[in-house]
Amino acid sequence: MNATDGPRVDFRSDTVTKPSAGMRKAMADAEVGDAVYDEDPTTNRLEAMTAELLGKEAGLFFPSATQANLAGIMAHCGRGDEFIVGQTAHAYRDEGGGAAVLGSIQPQPLPNEPDGIIDLDAITSAIKPDDFHNPITRLLTLENTFNGRPLPEDYVKEATELARSRGLATHLDAARIMNAAVAIGREASELTGRFDSISLCLSKGLGAPVGALLVGAKELVGRAKRIRKTLGGGMRQTGVLAAAGIYALENNVQRLREDHDRATRLAEVFADFPELGAGEARTNMVFLSPDGVDMSAFSEFLSERGIITGGAHGKLRWVTHLDIDDEAIENVRRACKEFFGR
Ligand SMILES: *Cc1c(COP(=O)(O)O)cnc(C)c1O
Repeated sequence: MNATDGPRVDFRSDTVTKPSAGMRKAMADAEVGDAVYDEDPTTNRLEAMTAELLGKEAGLFFPSATQANLAGIMAHCGRGDEFIVGQTAHAYRDEGGGAAVLGSIQPQPLPNEPDGIIDLDAITSAIKPDDFHNPITRLLTLENTFNGRPLPEDYVKEATELARSRGLATHLDAARIMNAAVAIGREASELTGRFDSISLCLSKGLGAPVGALLVGAKELVGRAKRIRKTLGGGMRQTGVLAAAGIYALENNVQRLREDHDRATRLAEVFADFPELGAGEARTNMVFLSPDGVDMSAFSEFLSERGIITGGAHGKLRWVTHLDIDDEAIENVRRACKEFFGR
């Protein structure tokens, strides 16, 4: 048998997870209605559940977290307003410039420190004075986890207080907030409660095929609903998708711990090969800063053994998720030993 005929394990991202048998059954059995008329009971349940989980009044289901972030930003900012966002944040760099392209909202990107924070003095200086030359700074956007790292809680408190004291609203891109909550042993709402709006992605480590939510105060979510329609995100019998989300929140949150443990083990495997420059595991991610390794030969070698790496973030980010088991980590160990000849 050729090695590539064997099982493939994909470390590119936790977006590659496939709905499990249990999740598919929940989807097949979902009670549905027209969600645009608010008549889909399963979607309504997921929205209420997520709002409660993240400590907010109301929730709204979206096809993607990209659209949830965009609708959130557009619900806070009008045409010609601006939002402060991390220079390497997903909502700035990886969402097609949606706020600018579709919302006529100017981003004010600021550097992210390695732990994902944006310097508070930098935020203060970026908030524009009330002067007709300037756009009106309306919103501060943060991201948690950031490159797998949970945002420091003290920082979140200080940054949201700063924003509030200057009249800015706050939005959290919380695509992987459940990883943060599980990793640091907090309720998700403790990490999100200080923000006015929060987006959550269901199709990362939570394992749903599609979907995201935006949560916040009723009034804000109402505005986001109008925007979602404009963006083409008003979908009908979404209960089949929402059922996957409910299943994910009920079954796949605590198990994220296993992904984090496997990422730790993966980092330990890489530590035996210092030329790979592996950092410590950050929730479900491990980053490599290789020195003197032919990385395309390395990924090709791994790929021949059914180990898939690479993707949009280069060959340097490895992500564990619910379709990666202990055996997969052992396969990586064996492949590394073989590749480096020790
Ligand atoms: C994946 C991701 C998103 C976007 O999610 P999609 O559902 O793929 O659009 C937004 N923010 C962060 C931090 C992400 O990792």
